[in-house]
Amino acid sequence: MSRFFSAKYASLQAYTPGEQPRDAEYIKLNTNESPYPPAPAVVSAAAREAERLNLYCDPACTELCKAAARLYGLGPENILPVNGSDEILYFSFMAFGDERHPFAFPDVTYGFYPIYANVNHVPAHIIPLREDFSIDPEDYCNLGENIVIPNPNAPTGMALSVSRIEDILRTNPDNVVIIDEAYVDFGAESCVPLLGKYDNLLVTQTFSKSRSLAGARLGFGLGNPALIRDLNTVKYSVNPYNVNRMTQAAGVAAIESLDYYRKNCQAIAETRAYTIGELAKLGFETLPSLTNFIFTQSPAIPGGTLYQALKERGVLVRHFGQPRTENFVRVTIGSRPQMDAFLDAVRAILKERGL
Ligand SMILES: *Cc1c(COP(=O)(O)O)cnc(C)c1O
Repeated sequence: MSRFFSAKYASLQAYTPGEQPRDAEYIKLNTNESPYPPAPAVVSAAAREAERLNLYCDPACTELCKAAARLYGLGPENILPVNGSDEILYFSFMAFGDERHPFAFPDVTYGFYPIYANVNHVPAHIIPLREDFSIDPEDYCNLGENIVIPNPNAPTGMALSVSRIEDILRTNPDNVVIIDEAYVDFGAESCVPLLGKYDNLLVTQTFSKSRSLAGARLGFGLGNPALIRDLNTVKYSVNPYNVNRMTQAAGVAAIESLDYYRKNCQAIAETRAYTIGELAKLGFETLPSLTNFIFTQSPAIPGGTLYQALKERGVLVRHFGQPRTENFVRVTIGSRPQMDAFLDAVRAILKERGL
């Protein structure tokens, strides 16, 4: 720390992103990217825009908002495109949180929430998951605090039904309830249809996972026009040109390539079922996932040991080492050949140890 660093950030614990190694060719199952490339139309749309990078992009993302409005069945005034959905989450903590307006979220969840709370000096109310790692919606009803919940949750992969989420929305009418739908395209129900009914709902989505655009950084905030206006006030106070030209064009083309991405999501769901089945034969217990990753553990080998042994064999997964989930690893669902290589590595690791 330099002597110039503001005291207000002295206690900041920054987020640790999953490894993005440059040194070797890993089978990369650690950051929930898609194993499939973007649709061809997306690549050419981004390349065309690259020729105009001398000009600022449209700060209102007009074409992208129109395309997203068609996709979600909303009006453009319900939509705020952002530089990855992390940005809309950050804007939301800035816009809706303060000393008297805490944010509640689960103990086992997306690691960025406590950090966004901390950096914005917003108290965090951390609510433990049930013993089986599911969210108890009762814990969030009549809370009188802002709430952020990923649905499905990460890293568990488990989802709540929309009707349970509706209970949370209905019983917290004076607080913002954010449903982080980063993984919704892999099999869970979206809360977007509730937007007409609840002015306290903000849904966040990303094109990083199901749309193969992690490197482009594109996400959306979807909500009541008044909430979106507040978030725009924050955006225009921080970074008006937040979604670059190439990404805006890529986003429009991705929305027009819906069939391509649907097929990819279908393939991921099939490979997920296959992987869970093969792991079960090896004694692994896997939480019921509706995402493009699984959270799995074996009573025979600690999560940290498995993570390290897989890495030595060229397979990267994620191990969080939190007390409650110490024994688990999170494994992104890649292509079928990638998952076969992962499974082969697991079999070899167990065999090596006489398990
Ligand atoms: C990946 C992820 C995000 C954000 O991803 P972006 O790449 O910033 O769009 C948000 N929430 C959860 C739970 C995620 O796993």
